Amino acid sequence: MINKSLKQLGAMLQGKEISSVELTQEFLNRIDRLNPAINAFITLDKDRTLAQAKRADEMLSAGKGTALTGLPIGQKDIFVAKGWRTTCGSKMLETFIGPYDADIIERFDASGAVNLGKTNMDEFAMGSSNETSYFGKVQNPWDRSRVPGGSSGGSAAAVAARLCAAATGTDTGGSIRQPASLCGLSGLKPTYGLASRFGMIAFASSLDQSGPMAKSCEDMALMMNVITGFDKRDSTSLNREKEDYTRDLNKPLAGLKVGLPKEYFAEGLGADVAKVVQEAIAEYKKLGAEMVDISLPNTQLSIPVYYVLAPAEASSNLSRFDGVRYGHRAKEYGDLMDMYCKSRAEGFGAEVKRRILIGTYVLSAGYYDAYYLKAQQIRRLIAQDFENAFKQCDIIMGPTAPSTAFKTGETADDPVAMYLQDIYTIAVNLAGLPGMSIPAGFAPSEDGKRLPVGLQIIGNYFDEARMLNAGHAYQQATDWHTQMPEGIE
Ligand code: GLN
Repeated sequence: MINKSLKQLGAMLQGKEISSVELTQEFLNRIDRLNPAINAFITLDKDRTLAQAKRADEMLSAGKGTALTGLPIGQKDIFVAKGWRTTCGSKMLETFIGPYDADIIERFDASGAVNLGKTNMDEFAMGSSNETSYFGKVQNPWDRSRVPGGSSGGSAAAVAARLCAAATGTDTGGSIRQPASLCGLSGLKPTYGLASRFGMIAFASSLDQSGPMAKSCEDMALMMNVITGFDKRDSTSLNREKEDYTRDLNKPLAGLKVGLPKEYFAEGLGADVAKVVQEAIAEYKKLGAEMVDISLPNTQLSIPVYYVLAPAEASSNLSRFDGVRYGHRAKEYGDLMDMYCKSRAEGFGAEVKRRILIGTYVLSAGYYDAYYLKAQQIRRLIAQDFENAFKQCDIIMGPTAPSTAFKTGETADDPVAMYLQDIYTIAVNLAGLPGMSIPAGFAPSEDGKRLPVGLQIIGNYFDEARMLNAGHAYQQATDWHTQMPEGIE
């Protein structure tokens, strides 16, 4: 049961083989048993969750069920949900209760899906290991001494440990794809503007995008059908016709032109990861895809550009957390300025403070042209690289992350080493393109554990249906995506 897909569980619910209350209870029992160690969920509200399951059963009995009705989904704790504690992984919001629903929460709710709980994350989505969360680190179910990736590390670990059938994530520079890669799941960051950011706590608004984290591309297609759509409450939401992302799942891949960027297979890529990715590419050739060598010449600039732009936007977005408008307020303080300073000093963790300092620096009058403006110009060149590449190919493939999951604490004193985790994912956000990671196999660790490796698939704007088709075809031919870590039975 726990390894069944959303699609399969949905069929069981529709066929009355099981009720949503029973299914939800089964996952809640697993959370009770496994979550104290894994720490993937940080807020549960069983009464609320079971009430939703009950409502779903009523919808199903009345013949009003949709594809996701009755299915329990983990929600990243970056999404404001009415009546639910919403912390964004920060002490700043430790006691904050959502006064309304984020667009994505509303959409899942309307579909009849069940909110199973809020998942752990790096503080304000800043990180690649889930170690910056105020609520503690998350274990990677494949090797408990390693990180699950981040910032959507709680969602990734929850799905990998089969504590839920699927979860949501957000991706500003790789936060859906990198944890999906490190935990052996499928994760998709849609084209910028396809999913509303309303009620998603902002990190870097021009990059942030929510998306599905699931066991298969087929399940992600079902979730994309729910997540996407115009929302007038988000000024960057795109007003386009709604698509059915399942429509192309079973198309044959013959003739699909796959671009392989030489910069993604260069120095910095772990040999163990490279081997698995090459094997996946060989499988795609068997499925009829044609490989084309391409170049994304500005790849090396994506990390420096991101670490100017994302902190700049974050420093502005996080100014609302001052102990007055939002967030923790220091108990003892002198004047107003002292209250702001103490509240922010106490409420934010070290990584968030580092980003705010960088952000305010690059935006300051004397440095704006040298850093912020320059980074915006290079961002344009990075988007241009992809525009040129897509003249030669339909989709792009490469590794999602340069390494498999690393040991907890390994990058503690070296933030730049952590930043390099996103070398292959960040450019996609800078260009606003859709990107996806799917499990492509395993690399053994020194101590003999099987560590998942992800294959990244990057599409042109609005080409999610084609990416999901490519991923689904591979998942029909391989079984990496159905494998489970040991010790979670
Ligand atoms: N790891 C990147 C960072 O720390 C990306 C995070 C994200 O996508 N939210 O900023």
